Amino acid sequence: MADEIKINRSEGTTIITPIVIPRPEHKISRANISENAVKVLYRLKNAGFQAYLVGGGVRDLLLGREPKDFDIATDAHPEEVRRVFSNCRLIGRRFRLAHVHFGRDIVEVATFRGNVDPDAEVDHESENGMLLRDNVYGSIEEDAIRRDFTVNALYYNIEDFSVVDYVDGVKDLEAGVLRLLGDPETRYREDPVRMLRAVRFAAKLGFLINPQCEKPIFELGDLLDDIPAARLFEEVLKLFMGGVSLNTFEKLRHYDLFGRLFPDTEEYLSHEEFGFPVTFVNRGLENTDNRIAEGKPVTPAFLFAVLLWEPVRQMANRMMANGDSPLQAMQQAGNEIVFRQSQRIAIPKRFSLPMREIWNLQHRFTQRNGKRPLRLLSHPRFRAAYDFLLLRAEGGETEMELANWWTEFQEASEEDKNRMMSQPKGDSEGVKRKRRRRRKPKVKKQDQE
Ligand code: ATP
Ligand code: MG
Repeated sequence: MADEIKINRSEGTTIITPIVIPRPEHKISRANISENAVKVLYRLKNAGFQAYLVGGGVRDLLLGREPKDFDIATDAHPEEVRRVFSNCRLIGRRFRLAHVHFGRDIVEVATFRGNVDPDAEVDHESENGMLLRDNVYGSIEEDAIRRDFTVNALYYNIEDFSVVDYVDGVKDLEAGVLRLLGDPETRYREDPVRMLRAVRFAAKLGFLINPQCEKPIFELGDLLDDIPAARLFEEVLKLFMGGVSLNTFEKLRHYDLFGRLFPDTEEYLSHEEFGFPVTFVNRGLENTDNRIAEGKPVTPAFLFAVLLWEPVRQMANRMMANGDSPLQAMQQAGNEIVFRQSQRIAIPKRFSLPMREIWNLQHRFTQRNGKRPLRLLSHPRFRAAYDFLLLRAEGGETEMELANWWTEFQEASEEDKNRMMSQPKGDSEGVKRKRRRRRKPKVKKQDQE
């Protein structure tokens, strides 16, 4: 077990000698830490407490990346933190965290957590070994070893600006390795979301998951079924909205985790008869990544619309073959797939409603006569639905001519718009085809299961 972190215990306390990297030997500078986080660190220190930056903030700064957020760890108890800051709220029932508010910015301050003797309080564990016990406060050493990966357990000390490493995390950071602290299977069983975190960090940082930590993932994916749907929603956003969603998706599939999150989608992806569903999801995710790279907004509604499209489309096609109108079919298929998906991932209504609109508007793009195009153009969800149409057209699911028409129509002058609406259209999914369909519903070959 050379890869496991050694923990020396003496009389119940954990004693580990840290590696301390002094300021001149690392590249974390206060200038790269958010002003508010620096304020919180200094205020805690000046009040006589220990204060460290920890987690992703330290990891990313050491890698020369821009951190998403800055978390702070301290030996001050939550009530003591509150006494130091007037702009502070305590949250969480089982483990209290302090949120220090600066306008809209929130700096999270956590008291060092200690895990009591792992053999104690066994009755608080679920059947699968998931950690249900309440956490207790502890020392910085204990706080370090209960974190997930070694590279996430590094501390930046505001006292002397050094980086404190209890777990050989700097070595792993330099080698580009993700290594869980402790026994991997036990740690995944304690919290199965760590498997998703492993994949997310591997994709985001371009790191390798250490082989001992990688192997159990293939076997333990079903533990994700026990994770509350609301927590999985948060995790899915982090997985797919971090700018490397395509890579993350491919890794999730590699580790058999994608199907745990999106069982209906996986069902179609695994058939891959026409290479079609995979490329649609791939293209949709690539599109999301590009938008993030360009600083354009991305919405979870569009992301979920992409991820769930294949099962929705196939179900709607079956319903249309049975005589339902395109809108009826799409609405019912949407209901059914969203209901099934919500057993795994709780998509809040503020995202699932616009997602459904993106789907429901698709058939309206085929109606290009009279005033209908103008009405569609003024629909609040037009832009997202149009982007979605482009994705479909790029994959050959609908005619490119249709997508091009809408591209042109949006930019056309009033006069040209009128001309375009009255001109005969290419017979893609237009009026003629609709008439034909009414007599004998025809399903495209690739739509059949
Ligand atoms: P990022 O914010 O870039 O996504 P992060 O590492 O900061 O990455 P957070 O979710 O912000 O991730 O968590 C902050 C820190 O809390 C982590 O770095 C890790 O030390 C610890 N942590 C978070 N989730 C877990 C978990 N499930 N098990 C153990 N430790 C965790
Ligand atoms: Mg973070």
